[in-house]
Amino acid sequence: MNTHYYCRHCGSHVGTVGYRTESLLDDLSPTEKLDTLHYDEYGNMYVKAICQYCQETLDSYPHYHEYELFIQ
Ligand SMILES: [Zn+2]
Repeated sequence: MNTHYYCRHCGSHVGTVGYRTESLLDDLSPTEKLDTLHYDEYGNMYVKAICQYCQETLDSYPHYHEYELFIQ
């Protein structure tokens, strides 16, 4: 069972690790987990993260980040 990270903004694949990482996400509230984590029928875990490109964009344009939050 793997954990796949993908970008919540552009959907690009960020990375995959060969194990599940729930313990790394204990800081999230149940609501945040619902928004951030998804599982498929094989028990693989999908985590919404952010890719390097979008991170750089958000760092350069803070207002863009506010816009993204608004449309969710
Ligand atoms: Zn992205």
